[in-house]
Amino acid sequence: MVNKATKPTDALIGHDAWNIQLDKNGNLKHFLTTEGLGSDILTNILDTAESFANINEQSVKKVPLLRGKTIVNLFFEASTRTRTTFELAAKRLSADVLNINISTSATSKGETLLDTLQNIQAMHCDMFVVRHSDSGAAHYIANNVAPNISVINAGDGSHAHPTQAMLDMFTIRRNKGADFGKLRVAIVGDILHSRVARSQIHALNTLNTGDVRVIAPKTLLPVDIESMGVNVFHDLQAGIKDADVVIMLRLQKERMKGAMLPSEQEYYQLYGLTEERLLAAKNDAIVMHPGPINRGVEIDSNVADGSRSVILNQVSYGIAVRMAVMTMTLGREKSGDEDTQKNETAGESK
Ligand code: ASP
Ligand code: ASP
Repeated sequence: MVNKATKPTDALIGHDAWNIQLDKNGNLKHFLTTEGLGSDILTNILDTAESFANINEQSVKKVPLLRGKTIVNLFFEASTRTRTTFELAAKRLSADVLNINISTSATSKGETLLDTLQNIQAMHCDMFVVRHSDSGAAHYIANNVAPNISVINAGDGSHAHPTQAMLDMFTIRRNKGADFGKLRVAIVGDILHSRVARSQIHALNTLNTGDVRVIAPKTLLPVDIESMGVNVFHDLQAGIKDADVVIMLRLQKERMKGAMLPSEQEYYQLYGLTEERLLAAKNDAIVMHPGPINRGVEIDSNVADGSRSVILNQVSYGIAVRMAVMTMTLGREKSGDEDTQKNETAGESK
């Protein structure tokens, strides 16, 4: 089954999509997708996050690295956890943070996305953190902002959620060590609608993971999934056999059109992770989930709250990883043209 939403909107993303993330010196300017970035950049994110994870574990959690910078959280789609961790990350770096919930803001009064952007740019901000229900929205914004502004994709449609993928890589590295080549990682569930799975698969492959598996019913897999470099399974037990890491995904009911599943009960019977089924994985396998979890649909409470679960660690590490991406993108030596503030053309009277 081909679902349109699984394909990023080419018109929005354009062919230079993967290049616009880097500046002239090869440093990370925007973070829109894990696809196309080298292992040096991904490893640099993980190493930088490591130093921030230590800060987050201390009683004084604030450092002055981004003092004087303004970060705008532009959320066109609801989120609590992701927005909160981006906000905390920015505050721990001493940046000023503005949260704008666009669904209740100007675009609903007919203002175009570009008008909205230009108005916010006129307030002289340094970074947009964007969440949007359309695949390609973050690329579109990155292609249209003033050159001095960095854009971080906090989830666009079914396309990408790169900071989630990197906090997952961080969680794996902390628990299983830095050699991804030794690892078997199984991603279970609604791959079709999951921006998290796509970003994870690109990152896992770039980090040379030994065996990346996806496990799902046919109706919840994109047709061309093998071309992403994964091994495909339809049976949960076979798929998680001897896995070091089991990543469960939420059933994205809000992104499903029509009947893709018989019922949640039936799904749970076939694909729900229970303690008994987890026995097929390695004894020391860890269980992950990007949240929010549907208890009794994709995962049993005993597993979600059990000793193998690192689900809450993922949330904590999310702050460190977002701090890393913010300092890497905003802390670069900027080129002359980036310093030119196009902002001024936006007009203050709109
Ligand atoms: N969807 C979850 C939330 O709304 C997590 C996320 O935003 O990524 O909190
Ligand atoms: N929080 C993740 C996302 O925003 C996963 C999910 O919502 O299921 O994509």
